[in-house]
Amino acid sequence: MNYRRKLLVTSMLVGAMGCLPFAQAADKGYVGISMPTKSSSRWISDGQSMVKFFNEKGYKTDLQYAEDDIPNQLAQIENLVTKGVKVLVIAAIDGTTLSDVLQKAADKGVKIIAYDRLIKGSKNVDYYATFDNFQVGVIQATSIIDALGLKDGKGPFNIELFGGSPDDNNAFFFYDGAMSALKPYMDKGKLVVRSKQMGMEKVGTLRWDGAVAQARMDNILSAFYGKDRVDAVLSPYDGLSIGILSSLKGVGYGTPKQPMPIVSGQDAEIPSIKSIIRGEQYSTVFKDTRELAKVTVNMVEAMMSGKKPEVNDTKTYNNGVKIVPSYLLKPVPVDKTNWKKIVVDSGYYTEDKLK
Ligand code: BGC
Repeated sequence: MNYRRKLLVTSMLVGAMGCLPFAQAADKGYVGISMPTKSSSRWISDGQSMVKFFNEKGYKTDLQYAEDDIPNQLAQIENLVTKGVKVLVIAAIDGTTLSDVLQKAADKGVKIIAYDRLIKGSKNVDYYATFDNFQVGVIQATSIIDALGLKDGKGPFNIELFGGSPDDNNAFFFYDGAMSALKPYMDKGKLVVRSKQMGMEKVGTLRWDGAVAQARMDNILSAFYGKDRVDAVLSPYDGLSIGILSSLKGVGYGTPKQPMPIVSGQDAEIPSIKSIIRGEQYSTVFKDTRELAKVTVNMVEAMMSGKKPEVNDTKTYNNGVKIVPSYLLKPVPVDKTNWKKIVVDSGYYTEDKLK
């Protein structure tokens, strides 16, 4: 029986018995879920999966989206604490701004899980559920290295670099992971950054904003690529890749004479999978948000029953105050050769959504 049907039958039975109409089987209390924004579809999927899985286990949920506005997220979390949630699951907009509200929550005994993005500067973070963020960057860079044939000695090629939002700890892991694979080719002169814009302070993109990336790509193309061709662009997130691709199209890339550079991405968002199918964006990284939601729900279940949640990393994620015990899931490379297997056969998207 699927979940909805189960819920309906349970509600009908309970209703017929004249008590607790439409209640869940068990009531294990409220979980507050604070997500950064609906502007990227991955966070919508994260939220939906968590609500579903938490409800199935007998928790009530309160899901909030802060539209990338830090004061908004703070107010939403305060509100959740006031409402009496037992657990907070937070994907922070800015990982450093939550210390005060988390202290208030911890004083009330609320358990706190950092979701996907590390919460920094606070001792009140019990666990961290995420993906192997360094590996995400390695995958992005590897797709560029393979596509250009750098391992076969081809080159030199021109590359430009984009980073994620500097207030998101993940952005540094993605960049460092990518650079760990690209740097040896830069050192040998096989990859050249004509703009010389390198390092997160130069290549970061505040709030992961695609329009900001597009404008920066416009500037780079006009200032450094009058005659030369850009062969690859390291992009850490699909929303930026789409902006970068628009910029490239604007100056004539994407034709048989002037093919698109190799552009990476992350999150396997629908516009990017469509773009990969069309032969524009080269690759993305799939992170199964259903799995991340499951890991998180299991962490909460364990904590609530006085057990230790399962973790697989106790070294990497130092938030400035403590090392937060973490569970890292595996990111998966996606390109035109395997998108169907990875995002359709796994049931993440139906194929008609990608047409
Ligand atoms: C997430 C990425 C996402 C990015 C922008 C990061 O923290 O890990 O999956 O692409 O935020 O939303």
